Amino acid sequence: MGSNLQVVLGAPGVKGKMPASLSKDGLTDFILSIISKKQEGKEPFYVLDLGMVVSLMEKWSHSLPNVRPFYAVKCNPEPAFLGALAALGASFDCASQAEIEAVMALGVSADRIVYANPCKAEPHIKYAARMGVKLTTFDSRDEIEKIQKWHPKCALLLRLKAPDDGGARCPLGPKYGALPEEVMPLLQAAHAARLTVSGVSFHVGSGATHSRAYHGAIAAAKAVFDTASRLGMPSMHMLNIGGGFTVGPQFNEAAVTIKAALETYFSNQPNLTVIAEPGRFFAETGFTLATNIIGKRVRGNLREYWINDGIYGSMNCILYDHATVTATPLACTSNRANPTCRGARTYPSTVFGPTCDALDTVLTGHQLPELEVNDWLVFPNMGAYTASAGSNFNGFNTSAISTYLAYSNPC
Ligand code: PLP
Repeated sequence: MGSNLQVVLGAPGVKGKMPASLSKDGLTDFILSIISKKQEGKEPFYVLDLGMVVSLMEKWSHSLPNVRPFYAVKCNPEPAFLGALAALGASFDCASQAEIEAVMALGVSADRIVYANPCKAEPHIKYAARMGVKLTTFDSRDEIEKIQKWHPKCALLLRLKAPDDGGARCPLGPKYGALPEEVMPLLQAAHAARLTVSGVSFHVGSGATHSRAYHGAIAAAKAVFDTASRLGMPSMHMLNIGGGFTVGPQFNEAAVTIKAALETYFSNQPNLTVIAEPGRFFAETGFTLATNIIGKRVRGNLREYWINDGIYGSMNCILYDHATVTATPLACTSNRANPTCRGARTYPSTVFGPTCDALDTVLTGHQLPELEVNDWLVFPNMGAYTASAGSNFNGFNTSAISTYLAYSNPC
């Protein structure tokens, strides 16, 4: 994804001035200003509301003041977004050499990175060692052997399978995490290999819908701390509570549950460092995607539109992240009166992506007013697991989609 710094009306981090996120009218005006500058070009583009990123960081610090966020780069690696998070003091969860490179290219030091992939390729481990990234996760004996061989100074977090997948949209338990009966042999193997196991990590699943999963996982982590101590291993001092957070009441509930569980299970551990790997929480709401209508077909009452991004691009989230997307015509996104929207007749509409595959269908049965080729359709909340997993299928290059930065004036 390319970044184009378009409007910066305030500077992130200016003391005493809290930026507001963009209003509906502000966002609409911003999108219109980009379109007017594009002239003939009608490629899709993202708008990133930096005010939203600042607000979310504030929200995190307020709700979970003792939990240090390591943003999960996989969720959205847009460089300007990573840069904003870095400037706001976030650390980073990287899962590959390329993600470590991307973060370090922004001047982030190695001690602000957790290499949170329990199964790492050997060349990537060697790279992490060269760059001084000294914290990683594991859940198998083979990983212990690789780390012992290529990066023996790396501190380890034992990744547990969370006892409950949190009713997650994307459960991670089927792939990662030690089972209860595997914990002791893994700790013993790491100890025998003279590796330092600093603590425990888990992930309750991405898009978790109930917060009690954090309670169960924190209790299970405490049991691992106790096992390590019974084995006479150096005392553990780090707990990584993973990701799974979504903006809104779910986050508030998760924060309350986590604080209560930490109090219940870890209050006698004053040296404990608690970290987390939020992805969706920081990425989802700040990004808005503008797409252009490139084709139309009328079949009786039904309207069919083709847009220039789709399932093989940003909307892969429908398949892989089990997301539901919504679209609004640009003419209807602001609060201002617009005859296209106010009281206008709507039609059941299908929205297709641009590739030649019928699977490339973004919306069906969506009520939209009559639209024409060259109109714009706007998709809100498109920052999480969208562009990061898009492809170049049929020559529609997801990574070429630009991101324009908007920053609302706090005054
Ligand atoms: N950490 C790890 C190891 C992950 O696999 C993921 C997502 O898959 C995340 C963090 C981010 O999760 P989320 O976006 O749900 O916060």
